[in-house]
Amino acid sequence: MDRIPLNDLGRVPAARTDAREAALLRVVRSGWYLRGPETSAFESELASLLDVPAAVAVGNGTDALELALRGLGCAPGGTVVTAANAGGYATTAMLRAGLRPLWADVDPGTHGLSESSVRHALDRADEPPQAVVVTHLYGRLADVEPIVALCQERDIAVLEDCAQAIGAQRGGVRAGAFGDAASFSFYPTKNLGALGDAGAVASRSSEVVDRVRVLAQYGWSEKYTVGVEGGGNSRIDELQAAVLREGLTRIDGDNARRREILQRYADALPARVGRIAGGPAIGEEHVAHLAVGQVEDRHAVAVALADRGIDTAVHYPVPDHLQPAWRHLADDVHLPVTETAADHVLSLPLFPELTDGEVARVCEALDSL
Ligand SMILES: *Cc1c(COP(=O)(O)O)cnc(C)c1O
Repeated sequence: MDRIPLNDLGRVPAARTDAREAALLRVVRSGWYLRGPETSAFESELASLLDVPAAVAVGNGTDALELALRGLGCAPGGTVVTAANAGGYATTAMLRAGLRPLWADVDPGTHGLSESSVRHALDRADEPPQAVVVTHLYGRLADVEPIVALCQERDIAVLEDCAQAIGAQRGGVRAGAFGDAASFSFYPTKNLGALGDAGAVASRSSEVVDRVRVLAQYGWSEKYTVGVEGGGNSRIDELQAAVLREGLTRIDGDNARRREILQRYADALPARVGRIAGGPAIGEEHVAHLAVGQVEDRHAVAVALADRGIDTAVHYPVPDHLQPAWRHLADDVHLPVTETAADHVLSLPLFPELTDGEVARVCEALDSL
């Protein structure tokens, strides 16, 4: 019996491999390898997908979070609200920017921040936070509109972490166009993946994007003139930009295939065993980055699936406030929904190139649990 992997980046359809190779060759022969025409074109194509004025490509998704926070004007010493169940990337970025995390619990149905969880965190804060990072976890748009409304009232910036949710939309508005800025990761396994590290920041405000652009290139206001302190180097290769441009043309199709697979799992998983996070109906607001079940007995389900050759994983086993390196930041932090979810989430195989036969095998296995 063939194993069904969680993901397999080697299964690229031949037409796509050809298109990628042509893009790479175009760059190799162009003699221009950083911040050239491919990067500019990718930035404007991404901005146009999101329907925002500007985007800037940076080195990776963690840099994107950090630079976006700084581009939004968050100053060292301030606090930023975030969920603790999203892999720790936002917390890492904040700490690098000298900001303190204020972890809020998540909604048990969506596994994302909700207006009431953010309100609760704001009421608990010693001083008004400078920003809220809303992660569109597993590919499902968080219930971001009421959070944006609440933050606007209180003059707090909203940063959307779209690393898992590129293309998701509600009411014709894409993930990344709701808040004050958005960060993206193009790590190879993301819905839009490079052949290495890459990321981006987008915003409805060109000033935010311009500030990020300066910080990401040595703080230069112009070539060899350091206009802003605290800059660094966070760029993408022209090679990656060319590959990402090819991927952008296919993103809605890839996302539709992912969504179809996730819907089949949501239909097959018996309610007595658990449910799919973000289910049962998987619509346009979900781009199915991960197929995450919330199951009663995770160990038993993982073993039963492994017996049938089906790989599983856990996203994510350790919430931020329980991470060994961050415990000193988490005195007296209790996040009951987050902590329970960390013990019950289980990810199933999900990528566009899974065959219908494989999807059927996973569904049969779920059905027989
Ligand atoms: C992958 C990911 C990141 C980090 O991206 P890198 O490119 O690996 O730095 C940030 N946030 C979320 C939600 C992610 O899934």
